[in-house]
Amino acid sequence: MESHQDIKASEKVKCLIIGSGPAGYTAAIYAARANLNPVLYQGIQPGGQLTITTDVENYPGYPDGVQGPQMMVDFEKQAARMGADIRFGLATKVDFSAHPHKVWIDDEKLIESDAVIIATGASAKWLGLKSEERLNGFGVSACAVCDGFFFRGKEVAIVGAGDTAAEEALYLSKLCPTVHMLVRRSEMRASKVMQERVLNTPNIKIYWNTEAEEILGENKTEAVRIRNRKTGEIQTIAISGFFVAIGHEPNSAIFKEWLDRDEAGYLKTIPGSTKTNVPGVFAAGDVQDKIYRQAVSAAGTGCMAALDAERWLNEKGLH
Ligand code: NDP
Repeated sequence: MESHQDIKASEKVKCLIIGSGPAGYTAAIYAARANLNPVLYQGIQPGGQLTITTDVENYPGYPDGVQGPQMMVDFEKQAARMGADIRFGLATKVDFSAHPHKVWIDDEKLIESDAVIIATGASAKWLGLKSEERLNGFGVSACAVCDGFFFRGKEVAIVGAGDTAAEEALYLSKLCPTVHMLVRRSEMRASKVMQERVLNTPNIKIYWNTEAEEILGENKTEAVRIRNRKTGEIQTIAISGFFVAIGHEPNSAIFKEWLDRDEAGYLKTIPGSTKTNVPGVFAAGDVQDKIYRQAVSAAGTGCMAALDAERWLNEKGLH
């Protein structure tokens, strides 16, 4: 715990937004237009998960599609033009025990805010293997679309059997001679249409009931040792890239002392609103949504959070 003296600076604001994906920037656009003078901290990955995707074809208003990173540049520009104060920095601690709410940025700067909008999104899950951590960035990746290019013409493996894994396997199949897809059960969770596409792609080789035991290689990924969970058979496949696509987890850890979360860690909101259990604290986007997880639904809840915050500030006579 830092003492008061450790805090290098503090500031009081009316509306603090944590996170810079579609939810955070949309909240910033609405809050700025409502004269709440929002301050937005971008977090560790400015622009959020869309910065690690390529084509976005399902966001209304872009009839020809748009690249994910470009879309987030557009969101940021729009929020800045409306007057949002957009800053680089990571929220590292909060104290929601009293009003105004306290949020520490990069462990050193204290922001006190009347209303707080949490839009911290979700992050990729990992298997938890030591070798996965050691070789992360050296052939191990959680984003085929970002890193697949580096493995053109090389053998790769992917773990997972949901829509993300299916989509990424298909993406990799266009770059790599073989995509070795490791599925832990005897069926896939992905939607039927995605499963069919995967099964009809000749260079995606599916290993059913299979788990990755270890990724092999010193300073680069050279192979993966796999085990059939039914037969116990062990096999080593030579690969250069190892992709993990087993889902995401919400970035809600710093709030757990104060806010209600579900069993998977998603922030709970009062149905039909973005209100959390703490008055004046609102949640939007993937940190509170394990069902839809779309850019457009995140933007929608970002809008709701700004409107909820504005109403709450008005009710409390703070705006
Ligand atoms: P999901 O949670 O849907 O799937 C995760 C997959 O990873 C499951 O097959 C799961 O296996 C597997 N898995 C989890 N942990 C491990 C582990 N430790 N070892 C091996 N395998 C593991 O996540 P997704 O990211 O795929 O999808 C999330 C949501 O986003 C879904 O609702 C999905 O439909 C949606 N989505 C839609 C897309 C589209 O429509 N184009 C594209 C991408 C995502 P098991 O099945 O055995 O639990």
